[in-house]
Amino acid sequence: MQYIGRFAPSPSGPLHFGSLVTALGSYLQAKANFGKWLVRIEDIDPPREVKGASSLILKTLEAFELHWDDQVLYQSNCSERYRAVLQTLITQQKAYYCDCTRQRIHNLSNGIYDGFCRDRQLASTNQQQCAIRLKQSQPVFSFDDKIRGQQTVDPANAQEDLIIHRKDGLFAYNLVVVLDDNYQGITEIVRGADLLPVTAKQISLYRLFNFTIPNYCHLPLALDNLGNKLSKQNHASPIDSKNTNLLTAQALQFLGQQLPESWQDASQKQLLDWAITHWKINQIPKQNQVLTTDIR
Ligand code: GLU
Repeated sequence: MQYIGRFAPSPSGPLHFGSLVTALGSYLQAKANFGKWLVRIEDIDPPREVKGASSLILKTLEAFELHWDDQVLYQSNCSERYRAVLQTLITQQKAYYCDCTRQRIHNLSNGIYDGFCRDRQLASTNQQQCAIRLKQSQPVFSFDDKIRGQQTVDPANAQEDLIIHRKDGLFAYNLVVVLDDNYQGITEIVRGADLLPVTAKQISLYRLFNFTIPNYCHLPLALDNLGNKLSKQNHASPIDSKNTNLLTAQALQFLGQQLPESWQDASQKQLLDWAITHWKINQIPKQNQVLTTDIR
């Protein structure tokens, strides 16, 4: 079976060093496995979208010579496909409308949704103000990560009826990420460790839909000196596309990889080719790492 990997940025801002690490890690793992590397723009959350970020992200990837295979998939073009899935789940009574407030759930002893609306049969005419939740019938209590090893999940969390369509009318990330990874035939998911806590929920959706479950590799996160993840929402410094050689070398080091002796003199293409040949996934650190300087 051919390896198919992907990088799936949300256009909530320009790429920063942490996103470069994820882009590079997923690219190298795909190419070292003679696979395809796809790019998907996860633009399903207009309020969080920054104008122009999608095209800037793609331009930055090109500047780093991280060339994707096939066409870029934009989630904003896929609503009909997602809606059909929601409709089927509702019709099959595998999902239900829920009008609980965040406050109500917050007040529960463990803050985990208690299935209050499961049997309330809220009518779809209410759907304007309702979220849609999945009846969790396939809870996943543990899974294997190729970098971090066996991961176990809090049982109450694993059994929670997860939101697949939000009260504000937007599709939930956990649903569409699974639909699209399956739609695009992704065989292995390489992404940031911030998504470890939702991975079991996503695997439960693979089981529900009878999709083939991909492998998972969660890369270390780059943290600022306060221990926060560099993120577009926290306005991490955008990376400078004129600085590809140094930034690529720093990202490779961050991922525990060796550098060629005279990396400063290598072209970006030479550096990437070298990195593909010498890529060792078992050298990737299992822990997140604090950046001592602001890399950009
Ligand atoms: N769109 C998500 C993000 O930018 C990544 C989703 C994923 O890789 O599964 O954080």
